[in-house]
Amino acid sequence: MPAKIIDGKKIAEKILNSLKSKIKGMKEKPGLALVLVGNNPASEIYVGSKEKAFKEVEGYCERHNLDESISEMELLNLVNQLNNNPRIHGILVQLPLPKHIDEHLIMNSISPHKDVDGFTPMNLGNLVSENTILAPATAKAVLHLIESTGIKIEGKNVVVVGRSSIVGKPAAMMLLEKNATVTICHSRTKNLAEHTKKADILVAAVGKPNLITKEMVKEGAVVIDVGINRVNGKIVGDVDFNSVKEVAGFITPVPGGVGPMTIAMLMENTLKAMELAEKMKV
Ligand code: NAP
Repeated sequence: MPAKIIDGKKIAEKILNSLKSKIKGMKEKPGLALVLVGNNPASEIYVGSKEKAFKEVEGYCERHNLDESISEMELLNLVNQLNNNPRIHGILVQLPLPKHIDEHLIMNSISPHKDVDGFTPMNLGNLVSENTILAPATAKAVLHLIESTGIKIEGKNVVVVGRSSIVGKPAAMMLLEKNATVTICHSRTKNLAEHTKKADILVAAVGKPNLITKEMVKEGAVVIDVGINRVNGKIVGDVDFNSVKEVAGFITPVPGGVGPMTIAMLMENTLKAMELAEKMKV
């Protein structure tokens, strides 16, 4: 029987509608600052979708489009101003940044309480010490989509392919916290298929089109495809969707899976950041 498709777009819409109703009743609206440096076409699309979603839920959103030639110091100054602006609860600096700017330095300069991407060392450290405050949005999206299937995570063999600090590692940590037995694979893993074949839940976060094929997937597995790859003008994931859906139990499509859920999780994080700011006022 072909896999059930996990409709990330529909699940995300539900979350966004519930956030919208919550925000409607608020006197002060959650504020998100989106910072885009240069004109990388993919980054422009990502920032545009985040801005659109945030406006749809009726939050306050400001966008800072900066020239590619901006200096590190000027960008640090902007982040600092946003850190101190009480109207702004969440700051999102779109990656990648131009080569002359130290990404780590910029990320580390964002106040952890406004870090809605969850990329600062404090938020990543909190995640590891099981004291999650603002978790990386894509990892949260992965967890949410798995939970939407109704399958219990506890005790399952989970394989995460990809070990980046912004997707693979945080997703693995969050699944470990749910008591899964987690294996993390990467570019130096020998015999990738040997590992993926054992996965009850398989998360692909690599950035290589169609890396995961039917032969690498266990019958009935939940397959979450985080990858976003452009092939001949089309967006595809890391999973060969058409063949894998014949063996998997559940599968996310690309587009329409993890992408829209990540945006919904960012909105959720911004609301959480606003609640944190309220608490800190007390
Ligand atoms: P990344 O930083 O480039 O990390 C890629 C990871 O894949 C690395 O850990 C790398 O291993 C591993 N890898 C590369 N080739 C491999 C192979 N042949 N076999 C096994 N592992 C391999 O990328 P990322 O930022 O984590 O993003 C991963 C993908 O997710 C990209 O397509 C990105 O566009 C997408 N993404 C989607 C969303 C969304 O909202 N849907 C959000 C963020 C990212 P090493 O560590 O050994 O190099």
